[in-house]
Amino acid sequence: MKKVVKFGGSSLASAEQFIKVGNIIRADKERCFVVPSAPGKRFSDDTKVTDMLYACYSLAEEGRDFKKELLQIKDRYQEIIDGLHLELSLDNEFLVIEKNFKGKAGDNYAASRGEYLNGIVMAAYLGYDFIDAAEVIFFKENGEFDAELTNEVLSERLSHCKNAVVPGFYGSYADGRVKTFSRGGSDITGSIVAKAVKADVYENWTDVSGFLIADPRIINKPEAIEVITYRELRELAYMGATVLHEDAIFPVRQQGIPINIRNTNAPEDEGTWIVGSTCQKSKYVITGIAGKKGFCAINIEKDMMNSEIGFGRKILQSFEENGISFEHVPSGIDTMTVFVHQDEFMHKEQKVVAGIHRLAEPDSIDIESDLALIAVVGRGMKSTRGTAGRVFAALAHANINVKMIDQGSSELNIIIGVANEDFDAAIRAIYDIFVVTQL
Ligand code: ASP
Repeated sequence: MKKVVKFGGSSLASAEQFIKVGNIIRADKERCFVVPSAPGKRFSDDTKVTDMLYACYSLAEEGRDFKKELLQIKDRYQEIIDGLHLELSLDNEFLVIEKNFKGKAGDNYAASRGEYLNGIVMAAYLGYDFIDAAEVIFFKENGEFDAELTNEVLSERLSHCKNAVVPGFYGSYADGRVKTFSRGGSDITGSIVAKAVKADVYENWTDVSGFLIADPRIINKPEAIEVITYRELRELAYMGATVLHEDAIFPVRQQGIPINIRNTNAPEDEGTWIVGSTCQKSKYVITGIAGKKGFCAINIEKDMMNSEIGFGRKILQSFEENGISFEHVPSGIDTMTVFVHQDEFMHKEQKVVAGIHRLAEPDSIDIESDLALIAVVGRGMKSTRGTAGRVFAALAHANINVKMIDQGSSELNIIIGVANEDFDAAIRAIYDIFVVTQL
């Protein structure tokens, strides 16, 4: 068995956290490939090293003095090195970084040093090989991740290592220039490494005991999900539930490698298993609830719309021409409604409306704003009758007006539109009916 273990920034923010991580890794000899993030926050208003690097580099780019800021970053690492009693000096590394900052090496290079340096510290602490991600993870000239080349080079390189540390978050172009993934991208690196070594498990260690059934800012101490499929996760992540970077799913999904989300501060917790498919039923009919505010609905009416072939296409064409993607399009006999993100739509609203008039000649167009969408997701819904009924009964009971309902034929989720101000109450009502009353 081979396990790839990725640790997030809060798991590596201090020497104390490093020691917990070291204990976790040493407790299981199958944990042979380690992907660290940069040191994160030690306390709630602390600054992540990645953010310190961006700020420091922007001074360098403006031609201003950045010595003090770079020294503060160095101190963050020194504190960890001292706390771990390591014989390690990063002096030369920081001289190189200073020189490259002066030479305007770019903000991707700057940000990547957070993981790079933490990888060096981690490798020294564990006695593992250090592999610079710039030598094994590649991007194409257009900025896309080069999955094929990376897998070839990385799997060959790791086949010679028993244990190794590969820093997260970055790779390089063919000419050696460093490029980072988007923020939170160490999750992607972990997944890429898991694929390259054909790992049995990709463990993603963070500061919560798994993926929660609902947002803890709305529900007091929600339970963690035990097992979730990639598809369910994608639905929930799309609706704003985040623990893992969205793109981290793809490399392991292709290989059928499960992801186990774990808590560095509570390693005894099982966490959440993210799998391709499972015969395990979720504990409740639903697996999770997530949602987002800030949508608006464009309601288009035209008599005899149902018999006019091509009407829907003409409406959507106006959105397409203005570069706006739509979320849901429920329709009736003489009406069709398009749900879009309000902030994207706002500036182009009149252009889109004019386009619809020109292309489809509707009788009327009416816009409703400040709506929220809630996704109730669960693979168990397919085989359980009455789920939708229970959702709507709960909402009616809580006096919440439902503006839109959308259930795909996969029966994996039900999407509900409500007013922004009913958002929290709606989530509580759904959580109560499916989780609290089942306990
Ligand atoms: N350190 C990077 C960030 O703060 C990447 C990561 O932590 O995954 O976004």
